[in-house]
This record gives sequence, structure tokens and C-alpha cells, in this order.
Amino acid sequence: MGGLLAASLVGLGAIGAICDGAEGPFGVHRQAASVAYRGKEVKAASASTSSDADGVHFSLPFFFGPPVKIVTFGSGIPSSQVTHIQNLLNRVNSIQRIRDFLGVRMNHTATIVLVKNAADYQAELRQLGVSAGDASSLSEDSNGFTLGSTVVIPLFQNPTDVDLANVLTHELTHVDINQHISNIPSWMNEGMAVYMGMNGQKAIENPVDFASDEKQDAEDILQVVQSNQLVPLTGSEAAILSGQETYDYELQDWLAVCYLIAHYGKSSIQTLVRHLESENPNQAFYDTYGETVSAFNAQFTKALKQSASVASAGASLEISISPSYHGEIFVQPPNQAVGHGFKAEPGTHHVTVTASGQVQADLPPVGTKKSKIPATPGTMYVSLLPQRFGSVDGQKLLDAEMEIQIQNGLYTFENAWEELENNPMYDPSYLPEVLGVTITAIHDEAPNDPILTMLNAENA
Ligand SMILES: [Zn+2]
Repeated sequence: MGGLLAASLVGLGAIGAICDGAEGPFGVHRQAASVAYRGKEVKAASASTSSDADGVHFSLPFFFGPPVKIVTFGSGIPSSQVTHIQNLLNRVNSIQRIRDFLGVRMNHTATIVLVKNAADYQAELRQLGVSAGDASSLSEDSNGFTLGSTVVIPLFQNPTDVDLANVLTHELTHVDINQHISNIPSWMNEGMAVYMGMNGQKAIENPVDFASDEKQDAEDILQVVQSNQLVPLTGSEAAILSGQETYDYELQDWLAVCYLIAHYGKSSIQTLVRHLESENPNQAFYDTYGETVSAFNAQFTKALKQSASVASAGASLEISISPSYHGEIFVQPPNQAVGHGFKAEPGTHHVTVTASGQVQADLPPVGTKKSKIPATPGTMYVSLLPQRFGSVDGQKLLDAEMEIQIQNGLYTFENAWEELENNPMYDPSYLPEVLGVTITAIHDEAPNDPILTMLNAENA
């Protein structure tokens, strides 16, 4: 803690001097501070240099590669929580992932400061030199913050390991970038960080849930495109900091990096980083991709517009049925009042739903039946009707449901639950499995949709 405190005070002094200036706290761009904002990230600027963590070198014996120091600020965080974060970082392998992606490794210690509540988060941000007003708003709605090589993680904004895997990998990507690149446009910085945050999340999340999270983030941007609100990729986030952001720019930044990876390969990012270490961003981009940023932006925007106009072409579900489940499976497509039934058989099966609402499966059909769930646009249900009504929690089990949402032609798993006699939504779960039946994959039937090509970059 002593070392961290010293580093923080040094940072405060340096930033404080700049923050007092007429340009305001974010007016002078020398070194990036990065802030996860409303669950997403914005980049702020400060006068700190990447050497602000100098003198804070720790080695952790459990950790291979560059050292990471995890500390707490404020009270109420047990040492078991610190150990949990250490173990999670190792499990996700964040540092190595980032190094492999960027092609450069951290050469200074990264300090991760855990805070438990908004008051401590705000106090720590203030100590790092963030203005009182910004620290106040950031402490309410950001889920991570990076300044130089210091990362602040508000645990209360990241309740699950999936959240933590994402935010830790995201922020440490900024640290690595901060240690090697002094001048990087916001969209490249955030695009790489969001890409890696998703990459870290993917390492530990259920694959159907991950793909659904990815698609829902993409849908947000496609809706921005449909409403003609999309702005060009931005170099600075002044609009965000001044509250003029109309949508999450960093999701757009992420898709731009996905587009680059999908079309030029993952290794092109290493080439870009190498150029950014010694060239101005426009030159670095041109030397890597052979075109200007504005030409790329036009091409990328065109792809988004094309994707926003693609109609749903249906989807194919891969379903795994355990031998313990005996009964029927009904698939109720969007806008239909009936379910299409099949007899469950153990093994892996495929159910296809076409754009016009036809349902096919490699299971024996048992006909259609009016569903108790009314026809719903944009929502599809997979219902399980067990052969024998068992008992759960002392109540009769009636059936179980899995909900799939469809937006911009993309199918995403939403949640699963059981219906009991006196509880219509028992034990809702984000995992796509219930009563021994699991959705193991959702394939969107839209091979020419550019957004699916972009999203596939997370599998590169
Ligand atoms: Zn960020």
C-alpha cells in the first residue's frame, strides 16, 4: 500500500498542476487515462506520464510474465477477494493474451486497485487526480478506470467473474498500450481494449451466452445506424466527457477493430502497434493497412449500413438433450401463437427456424399446439414439456422455457426458467440449459451479413 500511495500522490501532483490550468482537467492530452463509462469506456486525458508507476515494482511469485500488483483502497475488501482476482487473472491469462494480441509486453508493474463502493471509488479517482465532478459521475456509472499503469476496479460495478474477466483484461490492455504508445486515437485504443475485454470474457463464459452478449452489443450499434445517428470514428472523446455522447462509441470502436481483424488478420494489430510506437496514428494506420483512416471509416460504415438492412433469415439451434429428460420440446417462432413439437431423444440435435417461421428438426415431430405464451414479435421460445410432472421445491413442475430474442436478424439467448404450479418463473437462469436440455450453439442463417463476419473476429 505504501508504494501505491506514493505513486498516487506523485500522480496527483503532476495532474493537479495541469488540472488547475484554464483548459480544464481533460484539456491537455499527453497521456491517456481510460475510463469504463456506463459499462463502456471513454478515454480521458491527463498530464501523467507512463513513468508514474516508476518505483512501484513488485514481483508476484504466482504470476508468470510482467508483475501485477493488486491492492485495495478503503475498507471492507477481504484478502480472499484479492486472491480471487489474482486467481481470475491467471485463469483468464489476461497478461499473456494482451501481449500476444498487441505484440508488446508490459515493462512496468501494473497496479490494480480494488474498491468496494462508490464513495471509495470516488476517493481513489480524486487521489489519482480526477476532478471532483468527474470523479463523482464516474464513480456512479463507470466499471473501470486506467491512468498510466494504475487500474481502478470498482467491485460493485462488476458483480460476476465474467464482468471482472472483461474489465480486468480491458483495463490491462490500456496499461500495455500506455507503456508503449504515447499517441493513439481513442477509437483504436478503446477498440483494442474492448476487443481484448471480450476476449478475456470469452475465456470463461458459456459460449452461447458470450455469442449472445456480443450480438446484443452489435445490435446497439446497428440500431444507431438505422436511426442515422452514427458518427465517424473519433480520435478524442471530448463529446463523451462533456455528456454529448448519444451512444456507446466504444462499441463502434470495437466493431471497427473486429472489422480490421476479420479482413486483415489478427496479426495486423501487432503491425499497427509497432507503427504506432514510432509514427503518428494516421501514418501508422496507412503503413499497416494501405489506406487512410477516413477511407477505412467509409468502408466500415458502409458494411454497418449493409448489415443494418439485412432481414432475418432464420437460425439453427444446436440442442443437447440428456438421457434424463423425457418429454417433448416445442419451438414457438416469433409472431406465432403455436409451438412446433418434437419428441426429445438423447444426444445432440439441430432445430432450424426459417425467416417465415417454419420449424424443422432431426427429431420425431409430434405436431403443433397452441402455446400459452401469446405470439410475440422478436421473441422465440423453446418450451420443454416433461412426460411426467415432477416436483420441484415442493411444487408441481409444469414445464420449462428458454427465451431467444431476435433483433437485426441476430438470434440471442436471453434466459431460461422452470414453471411451477404456483410460480410461473422459477429459478430464472442466464445459462441456456434447463431440465437437462441445453442450447449449445445458435447459428444465424445470414452468411452474407457483414456484422457476423466482424463478430467472428473474436474467434480469430
Ligand atoms: Zn477502455
